[in-house]
Amino acid sequence: MDRFNTFRISIEAYYLANKRDLPWRKKVPIPYEVWLSEIILQQTRVAQGTPYYNKIRAAFPTIEALAHAEEDKLLALWTGLGYYNRARNLQKGARQILADFNGKLPENYSDLLKITGIGPYTAAAIASICFKEKIGVVDGNVYRVLSRYFGITTPTNSTAGQKEFQAVANECIQQTKEPDVYNQGIMEFGALHCTPKKPNCMYCSLSTTCHAFNSGTVTELPVKLKKGKRTKETLHFGVVLSEQRVALTKRGTESIWAGLYEFPQLTEAPEHGQLLSEPKVHKLSHKELHCSFWEVSEAEISGDFNFYTKEEALELGMPIIIADFVTNMP
Ligand code: SF4
Repeated sequence: MDRFNTFRISIEAYYLANKRDLPWRKKVPIPYEVWLSEIILQQTRVAQGTPYYNKIRAAFPTIEALAHAEEDKLLALWTGLGYYNRARNLQKGARQILADFNGKLPENYSDLLKITGIGPYTAAAIASICFKEKIGVVDGNVYRVLSRYFGITTPTNSTAGQKEFQAVANECIQQTKEPDVYNQGIMEFGALHCTPKKPNCMYCSLSTTCHAFNSGTVTELPVKLKKGKRTKETLHFGVVLSEQRVALTKRGTESIWAGLYEFPQLTEAPEHGQLLSEPKVHKLSHKELHCSFWEVSEAEISGDFNFYTKEEALELGMPIIIADFVTNMP
């Protein structure tokens, strides 16, 4: 038996014995639920993402409901998950499915890729889990497992690496009758067993044939090219309180926080404003935001803003750093 097949059989057995019971894992999976869960779980762990999945699924039970949702409501439910473009693209995708695909997710990989927000990973997940198509999923967990087991040293964040890992993933899935089991198996195995820092090699059904384990290179794989440092950006927010209400403004379309509500920004630290807390640091993928919150008067802020009570504000979509501040307001 070739190595791809040996690997694939072990991964499938692992999944059948260890799979977690999750709300979107059904005997007959519902494509909308699989799509929603996959988008939420990008950049988010299952334990953290599942309550969000439950809330959003309950608020928008169908693709149609999601397409017609008020953006503010969707973003409010998304607050805390970060990467808000995922939520906006999810809704764009839902609208596109209504307009171009009769309200149903397309049933194959190449048509799934036409939907806004669905990239190769999500398309492969939906196509294999819901429609049994044999396209291997590749994400951070999969890079790690494949690089260790097969001894692949090509950097995972290089174009050559992405091609090579996709080819290996596709090779592994070719001989199965259950592409849904294999794909979910490798994701589960990476998330629970062959983890970044403490892989459980001592009790691993793959250890006798695992390249990294047998060559003592587990901690060296996968290889990743170093990225540049995050750039630092300082933001000063003006907090105007008036009769138990606070001024908030909605961000325009051209930013990572597009469509979210925040305190009006000041161009610099105000001379006479009172600093309401120590500056807070918020890390994004490419930037490190140092945020200061100043108590200022209405005359010191500009642009469009409205006043909201704390309860009303918490119903709006806000970047987590703003939502945390509002939550802790008296
Ligand atoms: S032996 Fe260790 S490194 Fe190899 S697949 Fe198993 S857990 Fe991962």
